Amino acid sequence: MPTIKCTVTECQYNSNVMCDAPMIQVNRTRTEQSSTSEETQCDTFKPKA
Ligand code: SF4
Repeated sequence: MPTIKCTVTECQYNSNVMCDAPMIQVNRTRTEQSSTSEETQCDTFKPKA
């Protein structure tokens, strides 16, 4: 797993502004094609319990 910085500290996989998940899945937010980073999102996000 490469080093992944992530500022979504409300995610249960977040540890000190880094992602601690064994893998992540990132999806397009538009159905056809993304052209900016804003049009992608982490699908592995889970809110902290
Ligand atoms: S799973 Fe996604 S949202 Fe959660 S810490 Fe990792 S990269 Fe960030």
